[in-house]
Amino acid sequence: MDVEFLGGAREIGRSAVLVDDSLLLDYGMATGNPPSFPVGDPDPDAVVVSHGHLDHVGAIPSLLSGDARPPIHWTPPTRDLTRVLAEDTLKLHGGSYDCPFTEAEIARLSQVSEVHGYRETFSAAGYEITFFDAGHIPGSAHVLVDDGETRLLYTGDFHTGDQQLLSGTTARPDADVVITESTYSDVDHDPRATVEERFAESVKTTIWEGGTVVVPAFAIGRTQEILLVCEAHDVDCYVDGMGQRVTRIVRQYPDFVRDADALRRAKSNARFVTGRDGQRKRIADQNTVIVTTSGMLGNEDPLAVAG
Ligand SMILES: [Zn+2]
Repeated sequence: MDVEFLGGAREIGRSAVLVDDSLLLDYGMATGNPPSFPVGDPDPDAVVVSHGHLDHVGAIPSLLSGDARPPIHWTPPTRDLTRVLAEDTLKLHGGSYDCPFTEAEIARLSQVSEVHGYRETFSAAGYEITFFDAGHIPGSAHVLVDDGETRLLYTGDFHTGDQQLLSGTTARPDADVVITESTYSDVDHDPRATVEERFAESVKTTIWEGGTVVVPAFAIGRTQEILLVCEAHDVDCYVDGMGQRVTRIVRQYPDFVRDADALRRAKSNARFVTGRDGQRKRIADQNTVIVTTSGMLGNEDPLAVAG
């Protein structure tokens, strides 16, 4: 088995691993101005995707330009999240040299998509592939690649502890070779319950003192986690930005979250911001919590100046 890193090694972003020049694992992009993409110009026979975060899927549509139509294997949530991210990238960078794909490539995603659940072995580019729940975001997977002689485990991002949204991974498949994410491998986190308690206390204190709390949160995974924490601690909140659409998507996959009922309660506890009729200005004047993608804090949005 010949393994080549096209990005993501010694850096965060644009993860891409090419196996034997034929099987591509992930194809991400690194945000920045301009964004950056994996090196080389791979022409894989099949693509297997670990999870729907930008640094693992951001450049996927560009694999469908020209005549190439490799099948793309992923879980159902990963498929949907990839499309949301691709549309967002197009909105931000479309028409510029910074965007390696157009609407046409995004539309082709559904033609080549093949979805699989956890622990259902399937074939791709002549390999036997199995997904295992990685406990990172809904639909996230460890990817086990077996060529009959060597078993390669590509972990993707994973989480071993329980979160409100997801249970930690317990999968430990046998492998000869492991490619692992290690971004926080040398960091000790405080116990989850302590962190949540501290967060809830600080939010309640701020509101009680007359403040407005803006919680910057990535749309995928983090926003849903914060909504669950708010509900669990009786904190009302608003959610703004891409996190709204992602929350609706995640709700469609009850089998891919820890407690679908809790997520339903968290979603109804959160009010979705439409932005109509000066709604943001009114919300910013209230003593409340607003969960929003961090990108929205940097623009002229009135929420950006809410103290
Ligand atoms: Zn991730």
